[in-house]
Amino acid sequence: MNDRPNELNKAAIQSQILHGKRALVVGIANEHSIAYGCARVFRELGADLAVTYLNEKAKPYVEPLAKELGASILAPCDVAQSGQLEAVFEQIRTTWGSLDIGLHSIAFAPKQDLQGRLVDSSDEGFKVAMDISCHSFIRMARLAEPLMREGGTLLAMSYHGANKVVPNYNLMGPVKAALESAVRYLAYELGDKHIRVHAVSPGPLKTRAASGLKDFDVLLTEAIERAPIGELVDIEDVGLTAAYLTTPFARRLTGTTTYVDGGLSIMA
Ligand code: NAD
Repeated sequence: MNDRPNELNKAAIQSQILHGKRALVVGIANEHSIAYGCARVFRELGADLAVTYLNEKAKPYVEPLAKELGASILAPCDVAQSGQLEAVFEQIRTTWGSLDIGLHSIAFAPKQDLQGRLVDSSDEGFKVAMDISCHSFIRMARLAEPLMREGGTLLAMSYHGANKVVPNYNLMGPVKAALESAVRYLAYELGDKHIRVHAVSPGPLKTRAASGLKDFDVLLTEAIERAPIGELVDIEDVGLTAAYLTTPFARRLTGTTTYVDGGLSIMA
């Protein structure tokens, strides 16, 4: 089982199937981020990258990764700060003039709301979680549309807790459900422009965002025990699936939620 993925990866990399494609990646915090796994695969397959960092505190962690990835654009982007996402797209417009891939790999909820029951979630906490984790993807799609004149792919990261009750996922469940629904409506609205929109739904991965969930280690242990493939997924697995969705191999696919979870979600 072990060398097969490497062999597949080598063949994929040699294909350089994303050569000449321009990809915006929002959501790299560090080398464990799912967004970093996606950016690495996009780059290995030949894409040119625009990478964002949350703020000055995050920059020292993201900048070296952006350099290693040879990113053409590195820009700050806190989607909760008005004008920052727009500024990123303006930089893409002036530097590249077009965009092929937009990856949204961000989520946030205030700790008290994230770790409490949904029933107790605050107005403000729910609004913030929805704005950063869902509505910002809609805004991204709106800004990407005029730059995707030749079509393109927009991707957002979801989680199984959108569809089934996962203990301790709390208010992020309905927020991710809204995100997956938004993916379908955006796919419908942008389909005639050949802009395809997908959610990717990874199994549990040890990242900074995940460490905010109560008893996250239990989810990791259960994933190994219960997933048919019997191993945790890694950020490269997610990157390979994300990359596939952007290629002509997936040209007639849109509006899906694609699980990258070793089959965990099929289990009762
Ligand atoms: P991560 O902590 O590496 O990434 C989360 C990112 O969200 C960070 O880069 C952070 O800067 C960004 N972010 C938070 N608030 C922001 C804001 N206001 N503006 C811009 N960016 C902001 O963790 P991750 O696990 O890689 O998370 C990426 C995505 O994957 C999230 O949507 C998460 O819900 C989803 N996901 C994670 C898992 C998992 O187990 N780790 C599983 C399924 C889905």
